[in-house]
Amino acid sequence: DASLMDKIVSLSKRRGFIFQSSEIYGGLANTWDYGPFGVELKNNLKRAWWTSNVHQRDDIYGMDAAILMNPKTWEASGHLQSFADPFVKCPACSNFFKFDKIWDEIWNSDWCRSLVETMEGAKDTAVLIKWAKSKGKDLAPNLSLVKEPAVTISWIAELHHKFAGVNLDFKNFMGRIAASADGVSRIPCPSCGGILPENSMPANLMLETYFGPVRETAQKVYFRPETAQGMFVNFTNILDSRHPKLPFGLAQIGKSFRNEITPGNFIFRTREFEQMEIEYFVRPEESDAKLKEWIEARYQWYIDLGINKDNLRIRPHDKGELAHYAKACSDIEYEFPFGWSELEGVANRADFDLKQHASFSGKDMTYYDDASKQRFYPYIIEPSGGVDRSILAFLVDAYHEDIVRDEKRVVLRFSKALAPVKVAVLPLLRNRPEIVGLAKELSHDLKKDMVAVYDDTGAIGKLYRRQDEVGTLYCVTVDVQSLEDKKVTVRDRDTMQQERVEISQLKTYLLERLK
Ligand code: ATP
Repeated sequence: DASLMDKIVSLSKRRGFIFQSSEIYGGLANTWDYGPFGVELKNNLKRAWWTSNVHQRDDIYGMDAAILMNPKTWEASGHLQSFADPFVKCPACSNFFKFDKIWDEIWNSDWCRSLVETMEGAKDTAVLIKWAKSKGKDLAPNLSLVKEPAVTISWIAELHHKFAGVNLDFKNFMGRIAASADGVSRIPCPSCGGILPENSMPANLMLETYFGPVRETAQKVYFRPETAQGMFVNFTNILDSRHPKLPFGLAQIGKSFRNEITPGNFIFRTREFEQMEIEYFVRPEESDAKLKEWIEARYQWYIDLGINKDNLRIRPHDKGELAHYAKACSDIEYEFPFGWSELEGVANRADFDLKQHASFSGKDMTYYDDASKQRFYPYIIEPSGGVDRSILAFLVDAYHEDIVRDEKRVVLRFSKALAPVKVAVLPLLRNRPEIVGLAKELSHDLKKDMVAVYDDTGAIGKLYRRQDEVGTLYCVTVDVQSLEDKKVTVRDRDTMQQERVEISQLKTYLLERLK
């Protein structure tokens, strides 16, 4: 449902979750700013992660490393040599595509979909010829291979002709378009269907800047592309300052930067983003079991915070898909409106990182085991998630359109922990100073214990709708009667039940329910 993404983007802007960055200047491509509710949501998400992974465990230590590190770090990590995605640029429409994703992109492209639909419905090749004409492509009636880009289409058409009536595996055939009948490689552009160049270019994904005011003599440094390295290089500092025993971990939340070739899908893939990563050090022989534990723990974390189980899955990587250093890896994926995509990767990185840093720094980065009197390199299990991607998943998952008394009601059903606002205090009549005064007084008092807002900028129906759209858990309404009976109406976001509650009991009532 592509329009769901549009609704999320528009609600995010309308209600103050996420804005296009530097919008007054036309923005900066794929760069976003978190507004008043967005920053609350993001902080709640990060707090939930920190609480369950640092505060509620005995074996994990928090960290906050610098974004800019000694460039040797990136030699040791391999990022300077091989942190590159081969890509191609279409000469016709100037779009960029990642080489290893190109068949997926072609398969998902509009022109390919429409081609396949046509073919599936086509009884004979005449339909295809008509379709090709409607796309402005010259498809020869005899289906001989003619000039580009008709080659691509005629090649598929010929296959269709040959296998007419047979259930074709179109994806497989699409993958073979590259070598068409005349032996020349032709890859269609996923955007415009034109012909892409044969050779890809590698792109380094590291963003750079300079230390020192004079460019000529300045030192080139890199914005970290992951927070992980800040934890690996501090391994011995943690051993010396905290004396932990295996297994133990480090945890960090922070910004990372990648010069992505194909950023997009709102905050899903951007060049500046935030990660939440754990580096968990284990004995090599227990690494398989610990990897399994972490995959399950991280999957469960999303469910506990409110993600619907049906929209979340664990996908183990194939051997060919693994990064060169990884022994095994599983992705936790969410079903976004644009398809199943990675939220978090949980990898067994073996002893690659500590060995590399030991070799590049000349420092001893082994662990000394008291019991066996042996030194060795621990293995590392790494759960690495994206803050912004999670925010998008939680926004999508929380979005609901209900029909209430024949009217559409948009509500974000965030879990208690994530809801940016816990309670809104609303005066029923905004021109009655005693009601307004009491409502303001109540909201000030509630603010000491929870995130509470006061709003009197509309009629009550409108105020409720606004609070529903940001996922506020409770609305407290002060009315004329409140002045006499010292009670207010509390409305529950999800059940929409209303209850009269004694003002003197209000805070206890709410705190009880927010637990
Ligand atoms: P992808 O294949 O989607 O590019 P990745 O496998 O390169 O992701 P990792 O290097 O494993 O990603 O990074 C860990 C996590 O960081 C990802 O699961 C994702 O949540 C987040 N992340 C990585 N790149 C980006 C980005 N450009 N924008 C937003 N989040 C990102």
